[in-house]
Amino acid sequence: MAKKPLLEFTDRGIYCDKGKFYIDPWKPVDYAVITHAHADHAYWGHKHYLAHHLSKEVLLYRLGEIQLQTVEYGETVMKNGVEISLYPAGHVIGSAQIRVAYQGEVWVVSGDYKTEDDGISTPFEPVKCHHFISECTFGMPVYQWKPQVQIFDEVNNWWRNNVNNGLATVIVGYSLGKAQRILQNLDLSIGKVYTHGVIENTNEALRRNGVILNPTERITQDTPKDEVRKGIIIAPPSSVGTPWMRKFQPYSFGYCSGWMAIRGAKRRRAADRGFILSDHADWDGLISAIDATGCEKVYLTHGYTASFTRYLNEIGFDAHEVHTLYGDDEALETVPTEGPDGQKVSPLGGDLEGVEATS
Ligand SMILES: [Zn+2]
Ligand SMILES: [Zn+2]
Repeated sequence: MAKKPLLEFTDRGIYCDKGKFYIDPWKPVDYAVITHAHADHAYWGHKHYLAHHLSKEVLLYRLGEIQLQTVEYGETVMKNGVEISLYPAGHVIGSAQIRVAYQGEVWVVSGDYKTEDDGISTPFEPVKCHHFISECTFGMPVYQWKPQVQIFDEVNNWWRNNVNNGLATVIVGYSLGKAQRILQNLDLSIGKVYTHGVIENTNEALRRNGVILNPTERITQDTPKDEVRKGIIIAPPSSVGTPWMRKFQPYSFGYCSGWMAIRGAKRRRAADRGFILSDHADWDGLISAIDATGCEKVYLTHGYTASFTRYLNEIGFDAHEVHTLYGDDEALETVPTEGPDGQKVSPLGGDLEGVEATS
């Protein structure tokens, strides 16, 4: 009789029966190991959470009072004889790949990852394993990222021109990850950095966690518009097209996403500028990351799973497409609801073709 695999794919999430825990489950469970704090990976309602130290304050901010244990990269937690350890995924601050080992058999769950060092997230580290569970959000050859220094040259030049032309500058990226990556790479000799409340709440959570970020100023009713015009505004996707954003007119609006690599994406976002900047691995990054694990089998959880699985099998991997509920964080912004208990997370915003939510 074939032995039961160490990890299996269930209707609640990725499950380890031996250890009695789930990884990034989307339905309430007793014990959830969390790769990172994006809403399609860190759901509300689990009894116990295990995550990286640097995810702590953002998880508490997004999910309210949860029972949370945090660990350092490389540290091992034993659960029913199964080893659980976290390794850097390079996706956003605090993001981790989860390594699960039992009697010499090793599985790694990538969560979301990117292979480029963004300067703020601990860089991705390949982990040797027999079974690798990988994302493939941008698993098409058309997605090839330029080094981020080139993208940020474009961003800073655009900002400088806007200031010279009397335009306000609004740059959009999701609140955990992209916003901080933008913030840390702006040329602060041009002006000050202003933030939307959703972005600033996340910045504050990260600062409570000891992360050093460049100075920012939260935009309030009292912030003088004339001052804001000389600076740059970092805003979440959910703010696009809202009265909040319109009050900075005239402005130039730039959108940061991997999807900006495809024609039409900028137009559908109604953006003046599209910057191709992603927190996910590009085509080459995915293949090199999968190859570096030395794995016997690879499972693709979300993204272009069908075509990417086919391609991997053609070039000699043993690849399998699996079904999960992980989404596309580059298209879907999520922010907590404003409820007094602060305990629920509700997704706002739409997909690439859709209309952004305005609440
Ligand atoms: Zn993510
Ligand atoms: Zn995701």
